[in-house]
Amino acid sequence: MKIVRFNHGRLGISDGRKVVDVSHLFGAGPGEWPPVGINRLIRDFDQHRAEFARLLQTEAGVPLASVRLETPVPWPNKLMAYPVNYHDHAQEMASKGLASVQGYFLKSNSSLSGPQDPVELPALPGREIHHECEIALIIGKQGRQIPPEKALEYVFGYACLLDMTVRGKEERVFRKSYDTFTPVGPWIVTADEVPDPGDIDMKLWVNGALRQQANTRDLIVDIRQMVSIASSASTLFPGDLIATGTPAGVDKVVAGDVITIEVAHVGRMSVPVVQGKFGANIVFEKPYEFVRNH
Ligand code: MN
Repeated sequence: MKIVRFNHGRLGISDGRKVVDVSHLFGAGPGEWPPVGINRLIRDFDQHRAEFARLLQTEAGVPLASVRLETPVPWPNKLMAYPVNYHDHAQEMASKGLASVQGYFLKSNSSLSGPQDPVELPALPGREIHHECEIALIIGKQGRQIPPEKALEYVFGYACLLDMTVRGKEERVFRKSYDTFTPVGPWIVTADEVPDPGDIDMKLWVNGALRQQANTRDLIVDIRQMVSIASSASTLFPGDLIATGTPAGVDKVVAGDVITIEVAHVGRMSVPVVQGKFGANIVFEKPYEFVRNH
């Protein structure tokens, strides 16, 4: 099943063709603040599962293609991300900061944007802003110190995620937390539709040219371990997001580009890149040259 947020915070369930609005069950919709109805839907999904399946059989709904899709979880308790988690990306960055020796970092929740929102580049002359093609894990229930063998019980679903990044030596959190720097979507696919989390293909194109391609079998820290490691430090809550890391092929985007990401079993989304007016500050005044380590 697909879970969608659409048309000013409404919540829907979808079979890929139509959307049935279930906002009223979770207090969601226009005016909801903070927008956490989706967190409640995720927490309570198991008790609604049969009802949702029936609604998708009996309700006409509206065509999925007719709604405006929004970021699935706009107000998570945490937006976690793993750094260098594919060996080929470690090589291109000449990085020893692997996910297996660094653990997770955080991005600002307010960097989240949707599958139909543009990525707005901050006004930072002298800096490259890169795409990172990633898979998002959406946590389904509260947990702490989760062993790897139980970790998949805590994964509610999956989505496409772009971890946009200003290259430089400054604080990673700051470089990755500009508004619109974490597009997620186009929906959440529930975990039962992903047969093997250890075998998920993903691809990223810019203007139709393939830039990144990987499979989760090549992860340094796999999905079970990512959940386990994060939960050893932090209580995980329904709606928490984990960005699972990017493979080789990161590169800059400029205004006018269109970034397309596809994750197997989930779907694809294309987001345009536009130039914003904001974002300059003294931290980024010094130019930085990104040099790929071939
Ligand atoms: Mn990343």
